[in-house]
Amino acid sequence: MSKMQQTTIAVPIRKRQRNVLQETNMSPRSHLYSLPPCNVETIWRESLTGYINRLARTHHISPRDLVAQEILPRLGDGFSLSPPRLALLGAQGMSLNGSGDLARAWTGVLERLTAQTDLHLLTLRWWIGDLSPRRQLREAPAWCPSCLSGWREKGDIIYQPLFWMFQIVMICPRHQNFLVDRCSSCQKKPTIITTNKTEPGECTHCKAWLGAEVYDRTRQAQDDTLISWQSWVMNALEELHTASLITDVLQWEPFFRHLARCLKEEKAYSKLARLTGISRENLHQWVSEDDVYTPTLEAICRFCYVCDMTPLQVMRGQLAGLQQTIQNGTAVHPPRPRRSHRYVDQEQCQAFLQAILDGREEPLGVYQAARRLGYAEARQLRYHFPQECAEITQRAKAYRKQRKEQRLAQVREEVRRAMLSLHAQGIYPSQRQLRSLLPGGFMLQPAAKEAWYATLHELGFEPRNVCHTHVGPAPISS
Ligand SMILES: [Zn+2]
Ligand SMILES: [Zn+2]
Repeated sequence: MSKMQQTTIAVPIRKRQRNVLQETNMSPRSHLYSLPPCNVETIWRESLTGYINRLARTHHISPRDLVAQEILPRLGDGFSLSPPRLALLGAQGMSLNGSGDLARAWTGVLERLTAQTDLHLLTLRWWIGDLSPRRQLREAPAWCPSCLSGWREKGDIIYQPLFWMFQIVMICPRHQNFLVDRCSSCQKKPTIITTNKTEPGECTHCKAWLGAEVYDRTRQAQDDTLISWQSWVMNALEELHTASLITDVLQWEPFFRHLARCLKEEKAYSKLARLTGISRENLHQWVSEDDVYTPTLEAICRFCYVCDMTPLQVMRGQLAGLQQTIQNGTAVHPPRPRRSHRYVDQEQCQAFLQAILDGREEPLGVYQAARRLGYAEARQLRYHFPQECAEITQRAKAYRKQRKEQRLAQVREEVRRAMLSLHAQGIYPSQRQLRSLLPGGFMLQPAAKEAWYATLHELGFEPRNVCHTHVGPAPISS
Protein backbone atom coordinates (compact mmCIF):
# COMPACT_ATOMS: atom_id res chain seq x y z
CA MET A 1 0.00 0.00 0.00
CA SER A 2 2.80 2.39 0.96
CA LYS A 3 4.41 1.91 -2.43
CA MET A 4 1.19 2.72 -4.21
CA GLN A 5 0.86 6.01 -2.42
CA GLN A 6 4.32 7.02 -3.61
CA THR A 7 3.14 7.20 -7.21
CA THR A 8 2.19 10.87 -7.36
CA ILE A 9 0.16 12.23 -10.22
CA ALA A 10 -0.92 15.78 -10.99
CA VAL A 11 -4.67 15.76 -11.54
CA PRO A 12 -6.50 19.00 -12.16
CA ILE A 13 -5.61 19.70 -15.81
CA ARG A 14 -8.64 18.00 -17.23
CA LYS A 15 -11.03 19.85 -14.90
CA ARG A 16 -10.00 23.18 -16.40
CA GLN A 17 -10.43 21.82 -19.91
CA ARG A 18 -13.94 20.65 -19.13
CA ASN A 19 -15.06 23.98 -17.80
CA VAL A 20 -13.81 25.74 -20.90
CA LEU A 21 -15.57 23.23 -23.12
CA GLN A 22 -18.80 23.58 -21.24
CA GLU A 23 -18.71 27.36 -21.46
CA THR A 24 -17.96 27.41 -25.18
CA ASN A 25 -20.73 24.87 -25.74
CA MET A 26 -23.39 27.10 -24.24
CA SER A 27 -24.71 28.50 -27.51
CA PRO A 28 -25.39 25.51 -29.81
CA ARG A 29 -28.49 23.67 -28.70
CA SER A 30 -28.22 19.95 -28.22
CA HIS A 31 -30.82 17.65 -29.74
CA LEU A 32 -31.30 15.86 -26.41
CA TYR A 33 -31.13 17.37 -22.93
CA SER A 34 -27.48 18.16 -22.19
CA LEU A 35 -27.33 15.99 -19.08
CA PRO A 36 -23.91 16.09 -17.40
CA PRO A 37 -22.51 12.64 -16.47
CA CYS A 38 -21.86 11.99 -12.76
CA ASN A 39 -18.43 12.17 -11.13
CA VAL A 40 -16.20 11.77 -14.21
CA GLU A 41 -13.22 13.06 -12.21
CA THR A 42 -13.35 10.35 -9.53
CA ILE A 43 -13.54 6.57 -9.32
CA TRP A 44 -17.29 7.05 -8.79
CA ARG A 45 -17.55 7.94 -12.48
CA GLU A 46 -20.87 6.95 -14.06
CA SER A 47 -21.18 4.08 -16.57
CA LEU A 48 -22.38 4.72 -20.12
CA THR A 49 -25.39 2.41 -19.77
CA GLY A 50 -26.33 4.07 -16.48
CA TYR A 51 -26.09 7.43 -18.26
CA ILE A 52 -28.41 6.23 -21.07
CA ASN A 53 -30.97 5.11 -18.46
CA ARG A 54 -30.79 8.47 -16.69
CA LEU A 55 -30.97 10.44 -19.94
CA ALA A 56 -34.14 8.59 -20.95
CA ARG A 57 -35.71 9.35 -17.58
CA THR A 58 -35.09 13.07 -17.99
CA HIS A 59 -37.03 12.83 -21.27
CA HIS A 60 -39.78 10.78 -19.59
CA ILE A 61 -39.41 7.90 -22.03
CA SER A 62 -38.18 4.35 -21.58
CA PRO A 63 -34.43 3.83 -22.20
CA ARG A 64 -35.23 1.25 -24.91
CA ASP A 65 -37.35 3.84 -26.73
CA LEU A 66 -34.57 6.39 -26.48
CA VAL A 67 -32.16 3.86 -27.97
CA ALA A 68 -34.56 2.83 -30.74
CA GLN A 69 -35.62 6.34 -31.71
CA GLU A 70 -32.52 8.45 -31.20
CA ILE A 71 -29.39 6.29 -31.14
CA LEU A 72 -29.88 3.33 -33.48
CA PRO A 73 -30.89 5.41 -36.54
CA ARG A 74 -27.70 7.48 -36.16
CA LEU A 75 -25.26 4.55 -35.94
CA GLY A 76 -23.46 3.31 -39.01
CA ASP A 77 -24.73 0.09 -40.60
CA GLY A 78 -22.17 -2.02 -38.78
CA PHE A 79 -23.34 -0.94 -35.33
CA SER A 80 -27.08 -0.76 -35.75
CA LEU A 81 -29.44 -3.24 -34.21
CA SER A 82 -32.70 -3.89 -36.02
CA PRO A 83 -35.78 -3.61 -33.75
CA PRO A 84 -36.26 -7.39 -33.28
CA ARG A 85 -32.62 -7.59 -32.21
CA LEU A 86 -33.22 -4.87 -29.66
CA ALA A 87 -34.38 -7.65 -27.38
CA LEU A 88 -30.80 -8.92 -27.46
CA LEU A 89 -29.57 -5.65 -26.09
CA GLY A 90 -29.93 -7.15 -22.63
CA ALA A 91 -27.07 -9.53 -23.30
CA GLN A 92 -25.04 -7.14 -25.44
CA GLY A 93 -25.68 -4.13 -23.29
CA MET A 94 -22.67 -4.45 -21.03
CA SER A 95 -20.29 -4.15 -23.99
CA LEU A 96 -21.50 -0.54 -24.32
CA ASN A 97 -19.43 0.14 -21.19
CA GLY A 98 -16.47 -1.71 -22.73
CA SER A 99 -13.62 -0.77 -25.02
CA GLY A 100 -14.81 -2.06 -28.37
CA ASP A 101 -16.06 -0.34 -31.53
CA LEU A 102 -19.67 -0.64 -30.33
CA ALA A 103 -18.94 1.45 -27.22
CA ARG A 104 -17.05 4.02 -29.28
CA ALA A 105 -19.82 4.33 -31.89
CA TRP A 106 -22.56 4.77 -29.28
CA THR A 107 -20.50 7.26 -27.30
CA GLY A 108 -19.91 9.35 -30.43
CA VAL A 109 -23.63 9.50 -31.19
CA LEU A 110 -24.53 10.37 -27.58
CA GLU A 111 -21.89 13.10 -27.41
CA ARG A 112 -23.35 14.70 -30.55
CA LEU A 113 -26.94 14.39 -29.30
CA THR A 114 -26.27 15.83 -25.84
CA ALA A 115 -23.32 18.18 -26.59
CA GLN A 116 -21.60 16.57 -23.59
CA THR A 117 -17.97 16.04 -24.56
CA ASP A 118 -16.91 13.69 -21.74
CA LEU A 119 -19.17 10.69 -22.37
CA HIS A 120 -16.33 8.56 -23.79
CA LEU A 121 -14.89 8.64 -20.24
CA LEU A 122 -17.85 6.50 -19.11
CA THR A 123 -16.38 3.44 -20.81
CA LEU A 124 -13.72 0.91 -19.84
CA ARG A 125 -11.17 2.05 -22.44
CA TRP A 126 -10.78 5.41 -20.72
CA TRP A 127 -10.06 3.74 -17.40
CA ILE A 128 -8.06 0.57 -17.97
CA GLY A 129 -6.71 1.56 -21.36
CA ASP A 130 -6.03 -0.73 -24.32
CA LEU A 131 -6.07 -3.98 -22.32
CA SER A 132 -8.32 -6.56 -23.95
CA PRO A 133 -11.95 -6.02 -22.77
CA ARG A 134 -12.40 -9.80 -22.49
CA ARG A 135 -13.81 -10.87 -19.10
CA GLN A 136 -13.33 -7.44 -17.54
CA LEU A 137 -17.00 -6.52 -17.11
CA ARG A 138 -19.82 -8.42 -15.45
CA GLU A 139 -22.69 -9.79 -17.50
CA ALA A 140 -25.31 -7.89 -15.48
CA PRO A 141 -25.12 -4.69 -13.46
CA ALA A 142 -24.21 -4.95 -9.78
CA TRP A 143 -24.83 -2.39 -7.05
CA CYS A 144 -24.22 -1.55 -3.41
CA PRO A 145 -27.60 -1.46 -1.59
CA SER A 146 -26.21 0.91 1.06
CA CYS A 147 -24.98 3.39 -1.55
CA LEU A 148 -28.44 3.46 -3.17
CA SER A 149 -30.17 4.05 0.15
CA GLY A 150 -27.63 6.66 1.20
CA TRP A 151 -28.12 8.64 -2.01
CA ARG A 152 -31.90 8.44 -1.72
CA GLU A 153 -31.85 9.64 1.89
CA LYS A 154 -29.66 12.61 1.02
CA GLY A 155 -31.63 13.42 -2.13
CA ASP A 156 -28.52 12.82 -4.30
CA ILE A 157 -28.62 11.52 -7.86
CA ILE A 158 -29.11 7.75 -7.95
CA TYR A 159 -26.90 6.38 -10.71
CA GLN A 160 -24.73 3.41 -11.74
CA PRO A 161 -20.95 3.92 -11.30
CA LEU A 162 -18.73 2.19 -13.86
CA PHE A 163 -16.64 0.27 -11.33
CA TRP A 164 -19.77 -1.55 -10.10
CA MET A 165 -19.63 -3.29 -13.51
CA PHE A 166 -16.00 -4.48 -13.09
CA GLN A 167 -15.65 -8.20 -12.42
CA ILE A 168 -12.67 -7.54 -10.18
CA VAL A 169 -14.62 -5.33 -7.76
CA MET A 170 -16.57 -7.39 -5.22
CA ILE A 171 -16.94 -4.95 -2.33
CA CYS A 172 -18.15 -1.35 -2.10
CA PRO A 173 -15.14 0.77 -1.09
CA ARG A 174 -17.42 3.07 0.92
CA HIS A 175 -19.47 0.56 2.92
CA GLN A 176 -17.45 -2.66 2.65
CA ASN A 177 -20.68 -4.36 1.52
CA PHE A 178 -20.62 -7.09 -1.09
CA LEU A 179 -21.98 -5.76 -4.36
CA VAL A 180 -25.12 -7.65 -5.37
CA ASP A 181 -26.47 -8.41 -8.83
CA ARG A 182 -29.85 -10.00 -8.12
CA CYS A 183 -33.01 -8.36 -6.86
CA SER A 184 -33.82 -9.73 -3.41
CA SER A 185 -37.57 -9.71 -4.22
CA CYS A 186 -37.74 -11.52 -7.57
CA GLN A 187 -34.21 -13.02 -7.65
CA LYS A 188 -33.71 -11.79 -11.22
CA LYS A 189 -30.75 -9.84 -12.52
CA PRO A 190 -31.85 -6.35 -13.58
CA THR A 191 -31.53 -5.56 -17.29
CA ILE A 192 -28.84 -3.16 -18.43
CA ILE A 193 -30.84 -0.89 -20.74
CA THR A 194 -34.28 -0.98 -19.21
CA THR A 195 -37.46 -1.42 -21.22
CA ASN A 196 -39.89 0.25 -18.88
CA LYS A 197 -40.04 3.41 -16.89
CA THR A 198 -38.62 2.14 -13.63
CA GLU A 199 -37.28 4.73 -11.28
CA PRO A 200 -33.52 4.82 -10.52
CA GLY A 201 -32.59 2.13 -8.00
CA GLU A 202 -35.65 -0.01 -8.77
CA CYS A 203 -35.59 -3.58 -10.08
CA THR A 204 -36.29 -3.51 -13.81
CA HIS A 205 -38.47 -6.64 -13.47
CA CYS A 206 -40.59 -6.17 -10.32
CA LYS A 207 -39.95 -2.50 -9.43
CA ALA A 208 -38.78 -3.42 -5.92
CA TRP A 209 -36.35 -0.95 -4.34
CA LEU A 210 -32.80 -2.34 -4.68
CA GLY A 211 -31.34 -0.36 -1.81
CA ALA A 212 -30.89 -1.60 1.74
CA GLU A 213 -34.08 -1.14 3.70
CA VAL A 214 -32.06 -0.51 6.84
CA TYR A 215 -28.32 -0.12 7.22
CA ASP A 216 -27.23 -3.66 7.85
CA ARG A 217 -23.75 -4.46 9.14
CA THR A 218 -24.23 -8.15 8.41
CA ARG A 219 -23.94 -7.34 4.69
CA GLN A 220 -20.36 -6.30 5.27
CA ALA A 221 -17.47 -8.50 4.26
CA GLN A 222 -15.86 -10.11 7.32
CA ASP A 223 -12.87 -11.79 5.69
CA ASP A 224 -9.85 -9.54 6.40
CA THR A 225 -7.73 -10.97 3.59
CA LEU A 226 -10.55 -10.31 1.12
CA ILE A 227 -11.02 -6.76 2.44
CA SER A 228 -7.30 -6.06 2.19
CA TRP A 229 -7.22 -7.43 -1.39
CA GLN A 230 -10.23 -5.39 -2.45
CA SER A 231 -8.89 -2.20 -0.92
CA TRP A 232 -5.59 -2.79 -2.76
CA VAL A 233 -7.55 -3.31 -5.99
CA MET A 234 -9.49 -0.05 -5.52
CA ASN A 235 -6.22 1.83 -4.98
CA ALA A 236 -4.72 0.29 -8.11
CA LEU A 237 -7.88 1.18 -10.06
CA GLU A 238 -7.81 4.73 -8.75
CA GLU A 239 -4.22 5.10 -9.89
CA LEU A 240 -5.09 3.89 -13.40
CA HIS A 241 -8.14 6.17 -13.43
CA THR A 242 -6.10 9.25 -12.50
CA ALA A 243 -3.34 8.41 -14.97
CA SER A 244 -5.79 8.01 -17.85
CA LEU A 245 -7.41 11.36 -16.97
CA ILE A 246 -4.18 13.25 -17.46
CA THR A 247 -2.58 11.27 -20.25
CA ASP A 248 -4.79 9.51 -22.74
CA VAL A 249 -5.91 5.93 -23.30
CA LEU A 250 -3.38 3.94 -21.22
CA GLN A 251 -1.03 1.71 -23.21
CA TRP A 252 -0.13 -1.71 -21.73
CA GLU A 253 2.78 -2.45 -24.04
CA PRO A 254 5.34 -0.97 -21.54
CA PHE A 255 3.85 -3.13 -18.75
CA PHE A 256 4.57 -6.37 -20.62
CA ARG A 257 7.93 -5.09 -21.92
CA HIS A 258 9.14 -4.25 -18.39
CA LEU A 259 7.77 -7.51 -17.05
CA ALA A 260 9.62 -9.46 -19.75
CA ARG A 261 12.87 -7.77 -18.70
CA CYS A 262 12.48 -8.86 -15.05
CA LEU A 263 11.39 -12.36 -15.98
CA LYS A 264 14.71 -12.91 -17.78
CA GLU A 265 16.42 -13.15 -14.40
CA GLU A 266 17.41 -16.61 -13.27
CA LYS A 267 14.50 -18.84 -12.20
CA ALA A 268 12.16 -15.82 -12.22
CA TYR A 269 9.37 -17.72 -14.01
CA SER A 270 9.32 -20.62 -11.59
CA LYS A 271 9.62 -18.40 -8.51
CA LEU A 272 6.81 -16.10 -9.59
CA ALA A 273 4.61 -18.99 -10.69
CA ARG A 274 4.99 -20.52 -7.23
CA LEU A 275 4.36 -17.23 -5.40
CA THR A 276 1.44 -15.95 -7.47
CA GLY A 277 -0.32 -19.21 -8.37
CA ILE A 278 -0.20 -18.20 -12.06
CA SER A 279 1.32 -20.95 -14.20
CA ARG A 280 4.70 -20.58 -15.91
CA GLU A 281 3.00 -21.19 -19.27
CA ASN A 282 0.65 -18.28 -18.66
CA LEU A 283 3.48 -15.98 -17.61
CA HIS A 284 5.34 -16.91 -20.82
CA GLN A 285 2.22 -16.11 -22.82
CA TRP A 286 1.86 -12.70 -21.13
CA VAL A 287 5.25 -11.51 -22.35
CA SER A 288 5.55 -13.46 -25.59
CA GLU A 289 5.81 -11.24 -28.65
CA ASP A 290 4.31 -13.98 -30.84
CA ASP A 291 1.26 -14.46 -28.68
CA VAL A 292 -1.71 -12.09 -28.77
CA TYR A 293 -3.01 -13.47 -25.47
CA THR A 294 -3.47 -10.78 -22.81
CA PRO A 295 -4.46 -11.51 -19.23
CA THR A 296 -7.47 -9.97 -17.51
CA LEU A 297 -6.99 -7.04 -15.19
CA GLU A 298 -7.86 -9.41 -12.34
CA ALA A 299 -4.99 -11.76 -13.25
CA ILE A 300 -2.60 -8.81 -13.59
CA CYS A 301 -3.68 -7.46 -10.20
CA ARG A 302 -3.35 -10.90 -8.57
CA PHE A 303 0.20 -11.00 -9.90
CA CYS A 304 1.07 -7.44 -8.81
CA TYR A 305 -0.56 -7.86 -5.38
CA VAL A 306 1.89 -10.59 -4.41
CA CYS A 307 4.82 -8.20 -5.13
CA ASP A 308 2.93 -5.15 -3.74
CA MET A 309 3.49 -3.04 -6.82
CA THR A 310 0.69 -1.57 -8.85
CA PRO A 311 0.13 -2.15 -12.57
CA LEU A 312 0.87 1.54 -13.16
CA GLN A 313 4.24 1.24 -11.43
CA VAL A 314 5.18 -1.65 -13.72
CA MET A 315 4.01 0.35 -16.76
CA ARG A 316 6.32 3.17 -15.67
CA GLY A 317 9.28 0.91 -15.06
CA GLN A 318 9.23 1.23 -11.25
CA LEU A 319 10.13 -2.41 -10.72
CA ALA A 320 11.73 -2.49 -7.26
CA GLY A 321 8.88 -4.53 -5.74
CA LEU A 322 9.06 -7.14 -8.48
CA GLN A 323 12.86 -7.41 -8.39
CA GLN A 324 12.79 -7.74 -4.62
CA THR A 325 10.16 -10.50 -4.79
CA ILE A 326 12.21 -12.44 -7.35
CA GLN A 327 15.39 -12.00 -5.32
CA ASN A 328 13.90 -13.00 -1.96
CA GLY A 329 11.55 -15.64 -3.31
CA THR A 330 8.89 -14.48 -0.83
CA ALA A 331 5.54 -12.80 -1.37
CA VAL A 332 4.58 -9.45 0.22
CA HIS A 333 0.87 -10.38 0.23
CA PRO A 334 -0.46 -13.95 0.14
CA PRO A 335 -1.65 -14.88 -3.36
CA ARG A 336 -5.36 -14.50 -4.12
CA PRO A 337 -6.95 -17.79 -5.12
CA ARG A 338 -8.57 -17.94 -8.54
CA ARG A 339 -12.27 -17.59 -8.08
CA SER A 340 -13.28 -20.90 -9.59
CA HIS A 341 -10.81 -22.79 -7.40
CA ARG A 342 -11.53 -20.86 -4.27
CA TYR A 343 -10.82 -22.70 -1.07
CA VAL A 344 -14.02 -23.15 0.93
CA ASP A 345 -13.86 -22.22 4.59
CA GLN A 346 -16.31 -24.87 5.77
CA GLU A 347 -16.54 -23.61 9.33
CA GLN A 348 -17.38 -20.08 8.27
CA CYS A 349 -19.92 -21.33 5.72
CA GLN A 350 -21.59 -23.66 8.19
CA ALA A 351 -21.92 -20.85 10.76
CA PHE A 352 -23.40 -18.47 8.21
CA LEU A 353 -25.90 -21.01 6.84
CA GLN A 354 -26.92 -21.88 10.39
CA ALA A 355 -27.45 -18.18 11.16
CA ILE A 356 -29.86 -17.99 8.19
CA LEU A 357 -31.72 -21.09 9.38
CA ASP A 358 -31.94 -19.72 12.94
CA GLY A 359 -33.32 -16.41 11.68
CA ARG A 360 -30.28 -14.43 12.86
CA GLU A 361 -29.58 -13.54 9.22
CA GLU A 362 -32.17 -12.45 6.68
CA PRO A 363 -33.65 -15.37 4.67
CA LEU A 364 -31.24 -15.29 1.76
CA GLY A 365 -31.28 -17.82 -1.07
CA VAL A 366 -28.27 -20.10 -1.56
CA TYR A 367 -26.83 -17.96 -4.34
CA GLN A 368 -27.05 -14.80 -2.24
CA ALA A 369 -25.54 -16.62 0.74
CA ALA A 370 -22.62 -17.70 -1.45
CA ARG A 371 -22.08 -14.14 -2.66
CA ARG A 372 -22.25 -12.85 0.91
CA LEU A 373 -19.54 -15.34 1.85
CA GLY A 374 -17.41 -14.08 -1.01
CA TYR A 375 -17.90 -16.94 -3.51
CA ALA A 376 -18.82 -16.19 -7.10
CA GLU A 377 -21.05 -19.26 -7.39
CA ALA A 378 -23.29 -21.36 -5.15
CA ARG A 379 -21.80 -24.64 -6.43
CA GLN A 380 -19.39 -25.17 -3.54
CA LEU A 381 -22.02 -24.46 -0.89
CA ARG A 382 -24.44 -26.95 -2.47
CA TYR A 383 -21.70 -29.56 -2.66
CA HIS A 384 -20.55 -29.24 0.97
CA PHE A 385 -23.92 -28.49 2.63
CA PRO A 386 -26.67 -30.13 0.58
CA GLN A 387 -29.16 -30.43 3.43
CA GLU A 388 -28.78 -26.87 4.73
CA CYS A 389 -28.96 -25.53 1.18
CA ALA A 390 -32.21 -27.40 0.47
CA GLU A 391 -33.78 -26.00 3.62
CA ILE A 392 -32.54 -22.50 2.92
CA THR A 393 -33.99 -22.64 -0.59
CA GLN A 394 -37.41 -23.65 0.82
CA ARG A 395 -37.37 -20.80 3.31
CA ALA A 396 -36.19 -18.24 0.78
CA LYS A 397 -39.05 -19.28 -1.52
CA ALA A 398 -41.61 -18.89 1.27
CA TYR A 399 -40.13 -15.54 2.21
CA ARG A 400 -40.24 -14.30 -1.39
CA LYS A 401 -43.86 -15.40 -1.64
CA GLN A 402 -44.70 -13.47 1.50
CA ARG A 403 -42.83 -10.38 0.22
CA LYS A 404 -44.72 -10.63 -3.07
CA GLU A 405 -48.06 -10.75 -1.28
CA GLN A 406 -47.10 -7.71 0.77
CA ARG A 407 -46.14 -5.86 -2.39
CA LEU A 408 -49.41 -6.74 -4.11
CA ALA A 409 -51.36 -5.61 -1.05
CA GLN A 410 -49.48 -2.31 -1.24
CA VAL A 411 -50.36 -1.94 -4.95
CA ARG A 412 -54.04 -2.57 -4.19
CA GLU A 413 -53.97 -0.09 -1.33
CA GLU A 414 -52.35 2.64 -3.47
CA VAL A 415 -54.97 2.22 -6.20
CA ARG A 416 -57.81 2.29 -3.66
CA ARG A 417 -56.42 5.38 -1.91
CA ALA A 418 -56.00 7.27 -5.21
CA MET A 419 -59.54 6.32 -6.30
CA LEU A 420 -61.10 7.44 -3.01
CA SER A 421 -59.23 10.73 -3.26
CA LEU A 422 -60.49 11.34 -6.83
CA HIS A 423 -64.00 10.38 -5.86
CA ALA A 424 -63.91 12.79 -2.89
CA GLN A 425 -63.03 15.58 -5.35
CA GLY A 426 -66.00 14.69 -7.53
CA ILE A 427 -63.88 13.12 -10.26
CA TYR A 428 -64.76 9.73 -11.72
CA PRO A 429 -61.81 7.46 -10.81
CA SER A 430 -61.13 6.21 -14.34
CA GLN A 431 -57.95 4.28 -15.15
CA ARG A 432 -56.86 7.26 -17.23
CA GLN A 433 -57.13 9.55 -14.19
CA LEU A 434 -55.22 7.03 -12.12
CA ARG A 435 -52.43 6.79 -14.68
CA SER A 436 -51.71 10.47 -14.18
CA LEU A 437 -51.50 9.98 -10.40
CA LEU A 438 -49.53 6.74 -10.20
CA PRO A 439 -46.06 5.87 -11.56
CA GLY A 440 -45.76 4.86 -15.25
CA GLY A 441 -46.89 1.30 -15.94
CA PHE A 442 -48.47 0.98 -12.48
CA MET A 443 -51.99 0.34 -13.82
CA LEU A 444 -50.70 -2.41 -16.14
CA GLN A 445 -50.24 -4.68 -13.13
CA PRO A 446 -53.06 -7.24 -12.78
CA ALA A 447 -53.30 -6.46 -9.05
CA ALA A 448 -53.87 -2.77 -9.80
CA LYS A 449 -56.67 -3.58 -12.28
CA GLU A 450 -58.22 -5.99 -9.82
CA ALA A 451 -58.18 -3.29 -7.13
CA TRP A 452 -59.73 -0.81 -9.57
CA TYR A 453 -62.72 -3.09 -10.22
CA ALA A 454 -63.13 -3.87 -6.53
CA THR A 455 -63.01 -0.20 -5.50
CA LEU A 456 -65.46 0.82 -8.26
CA HIS A 457 -67.81 -1.77 -6.88
CA GLU A 458 -67.23 -0.46 -3.35
CA LEU A 459 -68.07 3.09 -4.53
CA GLY A 460 -71.24 1.83 -6.15
CA PHE A 461 -70.17 2.09 -9.82
CA GLU A 462 -70.67 -0.51 -12.50
CA PRO A 463 -67.49 -0.36 -14.62
CA ARG A 464 -69.15 -1.40 -17.89
CA ASN A 465 -71.84 1.30 -17.82
CA VAL A 466 -70.12 4.27 -16.28
CA CYS A 467 -66.78 4.49 -18.05
CA HIS A 468 -67.42 7.94 -19.43
CA THR A 469 -69.75 9.42 -16.85
CA HIS A 470 -68.90 11.77 -14.03
CA VAL A 471 -69.97 12.08 -10.47
CA GLY A 472 -70.06 15.03 -8.14
CA PRO A 473 -71.47 18.48 -8.45
CA ALA A 474 -70.13 19.46 -11.87
CA PRO A 475 -68.90 17.39 -14.83
CA ILE A 476 -65.12 17.38 -14.95
CA SER A 477 -63.33 16.03 -17.94
CA SER A 478 -61.38 12.84 -17.27
ZN1 LIG B 1 -21.66 1.39 -0.89
ZN1 LIG C 1 -37.04 -7.69 -8.81
